[in-house]
Amino acid sequence: MPVNFLTTPIDYLSGVGPSRAELLRKELGIMTYGDLANFFPNRYVDRTQFHKINQLVPETAQVQIVGKLMSISTAGAGKATRLVATLADDTGRMELVWFKGQKYFKESLKVNEVYVVYGKVSRYGAMYSIAHPDVELLKEYRGRQQNSMTPIYPSTEMLTKRHLTNKYFVRLMRQLFSEIKAAFVETLPDDVMRDQQLITKNAAMQEIHFPSSTNGLQAALKRLKFEELFFIQLELLLQNRIRKTQIKSFAFEIVGDHFNNFYNFNLPFELTGAQKRVVKEIRADMANGAHMNRLLQGDVGSGKTIVAVLTCLLAIDNGFQACIMAPTEILAQQHMAGVSELLAPTGLRVALLTGSVKTKARRIIHEALEDGSLDILIGTHALIEDKVKFLNLGVAIVDEQHRFGVAQRAKLWKKNKLPPHVLVMTATPIPRTLAMSLYGDLDISVIDELPPGRKEIKTVHRYDKNRLGVFSFIKEEIQKGRQIYIVYPLIQESETLDYKDLMDGYESIVREFPMPQYQVSIVHGQMKSEDKDYEMQRFVEGKTQIMVATTVIEVGVNVPNASVMIIESAERFGLSQLHQLRGRVGRGADQSFCILMTGHKLSAEAKTRLETMVETTDGFKIAEVDLKLRGPGDIMGTRQSGVMELRIADIVKDNELLAVARNAAINFLQEDPAIGMEKNINVRRVMAHLQSRKGLWKYIS
Ligand code: ADP
Ligand code: MG
Repeated sequence: MPVNFLTTPIDYLSGVGPSRAELLRKELGIMTYGDLANFFPNRYVDRTQFHKINQLVPETAQVQIVGKLMSISTAGAGKATRLVATLADDTGRMELVWFKGQKYFKESLKVNEVYVVYGKVSRYGAMYSIAHPDVELLKEYRGRQQNSMTPIYPSTEMLTKRHLTNKYFVRLMRQLFSEIKAAFVETLPDDVMRDQQLITKNAAMQEIHFPSSTNGLQAALKRLKFEELFFIQLELLLQNRIRKTQIKSFAFEIVGDHFNNFYNFNLPFELTGAQKRVVKEIRADMANGAHMNRLLQGDVGSGKTIVAVLTCLLAIDNGFQACIMAPTEILAQQHMAGVSELLAPTGLRVALLTGSVKTKARRIIHEALEDGSLDILIGTHALIEDKVKFLNLGVAIVDEQHRFGVAQRAKLWKKNKLPPHVLVMTATPIPRTLAMSLYGDLDISVIDELPPGRKEIKTVHRYDKNRLGVFSFIKEEIQKGRQIYIVYPLIQESETLDYKDLMDGYESIVREFPMPQYQVSIVHGQMKSEDKDYEMQRFVEGKTQIMVATTVIEVGVNVPNASVMIIESAERFGLSQLHQLRGRVGRGADQSFCILMTGHKLSAEAKTRLETMVETTDGFKIAEVDLKLRGPGDIMGTRQSGVMELRIADIVKDNELLAVARNAAINFLQEDPAIGMEKNINVRRVMAHLQSRKGLWKYIS
């Protein structure tokens, strides 16, 4: 436990005072000495380096320049008033600009003096400028003892406005550390410290705020990141253990006739090795009375559906019902069609429940569910409505879970005395270590092998002006009997505009591909669901050759004869979405293509996305690039997961360290499962502190 005075309220620190204390609490959540010590810099600058003005380039971030102040004057009028100074070194001139505190700077800065200025450069025309630079007379700068690494603390608009500058925080830290001395108790076990060659907590805390050298700083960062990740992993592992030992579910002890007959006589194809392995994992997991909570990852087209069906059969063989939830109506329908076809020879009862099922049909489903005559219910969110009551739901399969909120998933649990087993399927590949830290309390199965005979989808990037070439390519493919998707973006904020784009696109396609030679379908969100179904169905049956659509066809839709995916305004899609869309083709034996259409102007990030798509079809590689571009929260839509609120480690950049920390945590628990050994008292204290919030601690003793 931290020594007592780390819990001292921040008000007592010299240099704080009541109003600043209030600000620190409100803006940064800093209540105590300890909180302040744990307020880490988010970067460091090397203030021993200087730039010359003629070396500046637009990408230069923070720079430090020595120059003479040539002039200073007020420019602009009214709200646009600003203070502008010219700074010159022996290579050129640049501007310094102030919008705030103009009076102060105008009075205190002296023309013809030499200053050290520091800040972020931007360029207007040919002139570089720094707005609100740090300025210091060269002679004062020289008089100060220069530390090579200056920590830069995170700030907020309010802090800046109230003049709680970086300098203030540096001073405050100095004050804090002189008062608390070496107050930080070690939190990690000795052997872990030794194995990982970590510096002590005390040394790391000192070094993170007052780096003595680059190496010292690196050691501190490593130590503190490791510590953070280690305790998160420990927590996740404990949660997982608790789930397995404390949360009971049904034991599917037998593998019965439904499963065996289907497996031996009705499988339409031989399972891939990966599918077999995953089915085995699921079977073992559901057999022992512990609750299964498993994430099944498999790239688009890897064959998750059959795994879902076999999972349902295991439940049914043991006298239970099963359900499959999908994020959209179309997907639910596709599952319904696919599953009923697969199970047709078995005589099992499967029903579809979506928002558009009529009251009367709905009532029949409700009854069949409650009297147990219905074996499998497939549907959308409609499945979690209160009226839907299973007689005995044994397993819930959730397809494309990132569309379902955590709360919605929990609702499924309410229907039973015991929670049903849960299998979450996703085609969004999540790098394994990330998956572990996001869903550390889930077990993970991966289908990492595509069914045999698939050809790699050829992907190209084309500009709008090449459209005619693309059209003639489409014609050739249609001639060969193939079908084509043309997808338009639909982004909530500009729905009407997007809708117009889609309709314009549709009209030009119809002009280019006229009836009766060609048939074009259209599906979008503003259509009635019967109409959508009708159009979708025509395309599935091959009655139309082209499907113009918004992203409603993104996930799951399966038309093996479709071999070309054209994505319009591809720069507007995220990587994982592009990957999902591309996965709609390449499902049959033919060579498939994906054409990414864009305008000429592309942001650097959009270019990276397009290049990545052209380069690889490996979902995991794509996920990693996506992760780097967007950060983990956006990808999962699970910012609320809490695990992501890291103080110092970065789940993307520190991926390797995360794996190391996880292994260390696994080994640690193996040696001391109850965290009861004398030598691990430190760890026990930290865990007790972390878990007191969550009420988990009672399970560990
Ligand atoms: P996804 O994982 O994207 O849901 P699906 O389950 O829809 O993939 O399977 C994609 C296609 O591959 C389907 O047409 C399915 O019938 C076929 N498929 C799945 N597994 C195999 C296999 N082992 N051998 C051959 N084809 C398979
Ligand atoms: Mg699927």
